[in-house]
Parts: sequence; structure tokens; C-alpha cells
Amino acid sequence: MALLIPVTTISAPRRPTPITPPPFGTTFSDHMLVARYHDGSWTDVEIKPYGPLALAPSINGLQYGLAVFEGLKAFRTDTGDIVLFRPHDNWQRLGRSCRRLVLPEVSEPLFMDGLRQLVELDARWVPSSDEGSLYIRPCVFAVDENIRVKPAESCSFVIFTCPVGGYFAEPLKLVTTPRYARAFPGGTGDIKPGGNYAAAMLAEHEAHTEGHDAVLWLDAAEHRYIEECGVMNAFFVIDGRVITPRLSGTILAGVTRDSVITLLREMDVPVEERSISIAEVIAAHHAGKLTECFGTGTAATIAHVQRITHDGVELTLPAVTERQVAPAVLKRLTLVRTGRILDIHGWLVRV
Ligand SMILES: *Cc1c(COP(=O)(O)O)cnc(C)c1O
Repeated sequence: MALLIPVTTISAPRRPTPITPPPFGTTFSDHMLVARYHDGSWTDVEIKPYGPLALAPSINGLQYGLAVFEGLKAFRTDTGDIVLFRPHDNWQRLGRSCRRLVLPEVSEPLFMDGLRQLVELDARWVPSSDEGSLYIRPCVFAVDENIRVKPAESCSFVIFTCPVGGYFAEPLKLVTTPRYARAFPGGTGDIKPGGNYAAAMLAEHEAHTEGHDAVLWLDAAEHRYIEECGVMNAFFVIDGRVITPRLSGTILAGVTRDSVITLLREMDVPVEERSISIAEVIAAHHAGKLTECFGTGTAATIAHVQRITHDGVELTLPAVTERQVAPAVLKRLTLVRTGRILDIHGWLVRV
């Protein structure tokens, strides 16, 4: 039986304008789900109008970054149904993130039923598949009102949503940096705390200032091996083979990454999950064998890369119109997510 969640609806529903989607993540749907954790259990679950939360400035979520999040999407199929894409994977990953920061895990019914009921209530905010999708942001953060450094006893779980169109319009220009690292062995690179984004901000900002779009992150120890591209998983196509860094513990196990690998293998495209050095990428480019590079993530799905700069060397990749692999797998993934081809993997969950 589904969790019974009390609902307070907005008094004057706003009009969604999904025809021309706003810039990514700037417009929020009418409602949000909130729940509180204290005395060892999640309580006070409710769905209510999207708006500010009343929080003390001393909460440890704010002071010490005890905060983790997820990102997933709901799509509208051609028959008008709304489907969530692989929400169980996000629930499991949220659990891993919570455990790593010693935050309480959100139960599966709270996550899944909460998600379904929230998206169902705000169904009119889900754009048609041609226009975009509904981006969903679940998050957990500590709300203990004291500044002692210790595991959280009280937490909030919130889910809010935003209608979105495309994320990156133009192919990306990436740059490596010798000065910073995104993640390191034993750190939090393989989970989704907000702090990872905070730690990467200056590097991303400097990349922007220097005319690039995102950082191509290399490993922290040697700055030799490729880890991620911006906040996406990195893929290269070299000599007809797709190569993506293996999940070494410093890389986020993207749901899009896994979906892309699965679909590519079904399309008989060879995929290798292994270490790949920036030197190998440069050598492949010089040999004329580097045909594609792209990033994967829920927000952008697939973002083509047009240029990589490393230590003064600039690699310009073939035009997107000449690419085979990324456009083909993107097309297939889009067909799956919008219910246009059979969902043989059980990736779709109907709202
Ligand atoms: C969220 C995230 C991704 C993408 O994960 P998806 O599940 O595909 O959205 C990739 N890299 C980092 C660092 C992330 O935080």
C-alpha cells in the first residue's frame, strides 16, 4: 500500500510555460515534499506549496556541509503517461551518499511514494517529450541546531522539481587543471554531497574565465588519468571503441553512464571501462583516431565535447554532424525514456 502523505495544495496554481523552457533549474513546480527525521525515524511527511523552509542559521547542514542530493527526471510518453527514469538507482545512490556522511537513509517507500505522489500532483508541469522533461531534486540535509561536529540527529528530506528543456546547447570546451582535484581515494568523489560541487567551484570558475566551459578532471595523485568532465561522466570514442573511466572510487556512478554503456553494448559497440590517461587521448587525436568525446549526466543527458585543452595543447574534435556514436545512443536513450521502444530493462516507473 502506498504511503499516505497529507497534501496542502497551492491556492493559486501558477501557469507552467514548458513551451519555451526556462534556463535549466530556475523555475520550480508548484509543490514540494518535505519530511523530518528525529528520534530515529522519518516523520511529518507532507506535500505542500513550493517555498522557503524555516531553518536556524546554526544548523549543521549549513555549517558543515552535511547535505547530499540526487537528480533524476520524469518524462511524458506519447500516450500522455508520466514515467520516472530509473528512480530506484537514485534511491540507492542517495542511501550510499547518506551513509558516507552519517546521515539517516530515506526509506524506499518514502522516496518512491513521495516521488510518485509529488509528480502526479504537479503532472501539468511535466513538459511533452518534444519540449523537455521534469527534473527532480531529492535532497537530505542535517538540521541539528547546534554547531558541534558530530553525526546528525535531525534531518530534512525534501523533493522539489523543475520543468527543463535542453541543458547545453553548444558542444563543450574542456580544460584540464594541474592546480585542483575534484576527488581523491578515500574521499567523496563517488557520492553526491553538495560539498563536491563547492570544492570544484573555483576550478570551474577559472575555466570559464579562460574561455572554457568545464574542467576535464584528472586524478588527484598524478594528474594523468581522466576522471570526469565537469559534473558529468566522461566518454571517448577512439578507433571505433568507446572508453570511459572505470568506477575507481573517485568517480560518480552515473545512472546515465550506466544506461549509455548498456545501450551501446546492445548496439554492438565495444565499450571499455578502464583507466584512460590524457596522454592516450592526445596520442589518439594526433593519430586521427579520436572521433568523439562526450559527457553524460541526468541534466544534459549527453553533452558533446568540441575541444580539449591540456597543458597548452588544444585538441579540436570532429564536428558533431560527423559523429556516429553519441547521437545514436542519445537517440536510443530518448526512445526508451519516452516509452517509444520497449523498456526491456525495466527502467521506467509509471507515476
Ligand atoms: C550526478 C553526477 C553525475 C551524473 O550522474 P547521473 O546519475 O547520470 O545524473 C556525474 N558526475 C558527477 C560528479 C555527478 O555529481
